[in-house]
Amino acid sequence: MRRFLFILPLTLAACEVTYSTGPASAPASDPVASQPSTASFAQVVAAIEPVAEQECRRRTNGTNCDFLIRVDKNPRAEPNAYQSEDPSGRPVITFTRAMIDSTANADELAFVLGHEAAHHISGHLARQAQNAAAGAIIFAGLATLTGGSAADVAAAQQLGEAVGARSYSKEFELEADELGTVITYRAGFDPLLGAQYFTRIADPGDRFLGTHPPNGARIETVRRTSRQLGLIP
Ligand SMILES: [Zn+2]
Repeated sequence: MRRFLFILPLTLAACEVTYSTGPASAPASDPVASQPSTASFAQVVAAIEPVAEQECRRRTNGTNCDFLIRVDKNPRAEPNAYQSEDPSGRPVITFTRAMIDSTANADELAFVLGHEAAHHISGHLARQAQNAAAGAIIFAGLATLTGGSAADVAAAQQLGEAVGARSYSKEFELEADELGTVITYRAGFDPLLGAQYFTRIADPGDRFLGTHPPNGARIETVRRTSRQLGLIP
């Protein structure tokens, strides 16, 4: 089991991989005038970080809320933004250069950052690891009951882990979009403009056990939350 606990955080860390399958109309190579530069990334980080920390302290108990937000060292890394924890438990959010370049404005950048911070505040890494561990136990149990060999049980355990890890991932994404909307708004950005990012990335559709919800569901979540915040009627 110990092996699983080390592997799992990487699984959720890659949760934003959809972004990289994204823009067929990839703005990465388009010379978009309003495209965020490293300077405006720093400004977005400076505005979002204190709000994310405040929401984290308000909504959690004993959670490390001291976010470290950084740019991936590899300048050629795929477009991605992801959340992880360093060995001390400090939440780390990493943006690749290509991810920053694929956003059209500061609102989109702020929204993606708010979404990633929300994953941490909502405890999604730990909750996903629990689901994976439970799935592994259930599937291995079934394989044992049906007289499976040791190899069958090991395979079932691995499959159960994968199914368990994905069982709530769409809900986690929508939860992160909801809290991400609040953080984006409180930091002075427009979450509705920020969510326009989804209109440019590939729609994962409503695949069974897919890791991401359909883009329409994500935009609807942002609209509903914006209405609750009084941002729109
Ligand atoms: Zn996510």
